[in-house]
Amino acid sequence: MVFNARHRLDNIEDVEEFYNAIQRTHLTKALSEERPYTYWTIELYDQKNGIRGGGGLGILAADTRRVAEEMNVPFVLLTPFYPSELHQKMENGRSVDESRKVDYRGFGFELVDTVNIKCNGQLCRLEVIEKAFKSTRILAITEPNFGELYSGDSCGDHRLYQEVALGFGGYQALKLVGLKPAIMQLNEVATFFAALARLDELATNGMDFYEAVVYTRKHTLYTNHTLVQAAEASFSLEQFERFVFPNLKSRAVRKWLRDKFEEGRIRLSSVTIEIAELKSGVSKLHARVANYHDLSGEKVKFKAVTNGIDIPYWTLPDVVRFYKDSEILDKFCLPTEAYESQVAKIEAGQIREIKKRGREAMNEVLAGRPDQEGRVLRFEPGEIVFDFKRRFVDYKRPWLPFTDLKRLRTILESHRASYILTGRVHQGDERMMRRLDEVLEKIRSDEYLREHVHYIPDYDEELARALSVGSNVSINVPIVGLEACGTSWEKDVANMCLLVSTHDGGVADAPTESYLTVAGKNETEEVESLYARMDEAARAWENDFDLEFWVKKQLTNYLPIISGTRMLKDYLEYLF
Ligand SMILES: *Cc1c(COP(=O)(O)O)cnc(C)c1O
Repeated sequence: MVFNARHRLDNIEDVEEFYNAIQRTHLTKALSEERPYTYWTIELYDQKNGIRGGGGLGILAADTRRVAEEMNVPFVLLTPFYPSELHQKMENGRSVDESRKVDYRGFGFELVDTVNIKCNGQLCRLEVIEKAFKSTRILAITEPNFGELYSGDSCGDHRLYQEVALGFGGYQALKLVGLKPAIMQLNEVATFFAALARLDELATNGMDFYEAVVYTRKHTLYTNHTLVQAAEASFSLEQFERFVFPNLKSRAVRKWLRDKFEEGRIRLSSVTIEIAELKSGVSKLHARVANYHDLSGEKVKFKAVTNGIDIPYWTLPDVVRFYKDSEILDKFCLPTEAYESQVAKIEAGQIREIKKRGREAMNEVLAGRPDQEGRVLRFEPGEIVFDFKRRFVDYKRPWLPFTDLKRLRTILESHRASYILTGRVHQGDERMMRRLDEVLEKIRSDEYLREHVHYIPDYDEELARALSVGSNVSINVPIVGLEACGTSWEKDVANMCLLVSTHDGGVADAPTESYLTVAGKNETEEVESLYARMDEAARAWENDFDLEFWVKKQLTNYLPIISGTRMLKDYLEYLF
């Protein structure tokens, strides 16, 4: 069987055949247990396995591995295990961070052995730990002083050490467990050193240097999430002398790398572009507008592979059952051939029933997650809940709905609705810390908002899922052009929330009429549009016809994009 879009997977008998179907086309017997797909990421967001990430990059990595597991694809994810992580709590109405220790032994990881890398004139011993999940596994690198994710300066020594440890240490870890990478997917440039380690190994094991470069390039995929190359961190030659060159055996590779410095500095994206022939961006818009140039000044072309999510992970089992029983999704969670006509049959009663179960699940999580005032929240099934859940960073504009407090109050009051806000400020981002304080102050300043707007600290996977399954309207208003893809809106669409969003990232894979669009020539107009759309969304929940209309529109236009199986299939087709 030829595996392509024409042959949807609903014709295939079981999961094993999914893999066989792909393999028989052009995988050139490339993937096997001993030669897996390897996925490198400095960030993984997988709390069940003890690893907390920072945002979408880590969520994507965890979803990709889970989908590979469900589809029986041999897959190894390589990542650091950070022995401490940051949490947010509220103290006297203000947000504070606290560091917590994490022990991998408590999460089912086993110590494989240790490997050494050379850093700063010393031999550094790294522990290699492993946890297996059917056809996939997580191989992680750790040591007691490894530190936290994204701690310190992005151009600093410790960050370089973490990246070098993952690359060189992780490559040795693969060999330690007897694996050879069929393919190396680099989830952003912090993982460049893994491909460099491979190049070095090939060039020292008898392969001609140029052959080694060609071979490494052919088997490396660089997935970019950042729009502007100039915004990326860079390192100095002096730092590389201490952390990188001591780990390279091949003189030719050292020379190749040394030649890539410009005015004594190196940008990892520039060398990643050189070492990876395959390059992808994470949504159609992002792949088009990411402005990257190679060292000769040529603009880099990125293949668009829009992020998907692991639908069974982010929805209630009832919802997946509903989609499968209604023949909207097939057993692989890909939209069926007839999904559009099946979606058209969805009725408001079914949507409300699904949301009712979601509301129960949300309340269960909220019971353990009090808001900024220490209140334990609980919402009735019919109450309308808006949510804004994402990292508290500038371009996502979490303060936008608080521009005109009277308008916000009117909307909430007239629909007897509540608003839940959650999102952490990146450590050290003083500006956004102030913005969060301002928002909290605004909420306190209004008697009505104080009762109906809730900020829940320590945004994480648990809260993300709870809000997606249980809220009615989700707000996503990044400055247009700055969101690479975003995946929380995908969780919301899968869970039948109405999406109020600007047309950006993966949302822009489909036309603007697919959801409640926020648009305007400037921010003032956008704010106006946002309030109008929020009101419209709340009204839709009070009216079966509009509710059906929007839920069906969203599902019809976005289900094929959201499907994580579709994403993995796209990657496999691009790679092989
Ligand atoms: C889904 C998810 C994200 C991704 O969010 P976007 O803002 O859509 O990129 C980030 N953090 C957590 C905890 C998530 O669950």
